[in-house]
Amino acid sequence: MSHVLQCTQCQAKNRVQAVPGGAVPVCARCGAALPWLHDGTDDSFAQDIQAGVPVLVDFWAPWCGPCRVVGPMLEQIARERPGQVRIVKVNVDDNPQTPSQFQVQGIPTMIIFRNGQPVDRVVGAAGKAAIEARLFPS
Ligand SMILES: [Zn+2]
Repeated sequence: MSHVLQCTQCQAKNRVQAVPGGAVPVCARCGAALPWLHDGTDDSFAQDIQAGVPVLVDFWAPWCGPCRVVGPMLEQIARERPGQVRIVKVNVDDNPQTPSQFQVQGIPTMIIFRNGQPVDRVVGAAGKAAIEARLFPS
């Protein structure tokens, strides 16, 4: 399982595989932290939510209109906060087990994990500031 993450500093595309616990992916060319947003699957989910930073899992589907509003906001958050957050997008049509495990009733639903444990969830389309407030409480 690997993901391609593009560096916001030098634009290099990095193929990232497993990231050691507590670490964040960094650019192989310039060393900057990479925006950490990628697809998650039922098979990889246990690994997908492991990180030393907060993990936001976005349960979505291509046919869901509000999901198409949330998606670009999450990409923006990932690009603005490299090294501070991991965002995992789970397509609920392709991956039915994980949403069922976490009692996801509708989409979009975003669940925030810290240290591998779900600590908060946002149901329905929320604004970028509201999502960031949940991810980074002051
Ligand atoms: Zn770079």
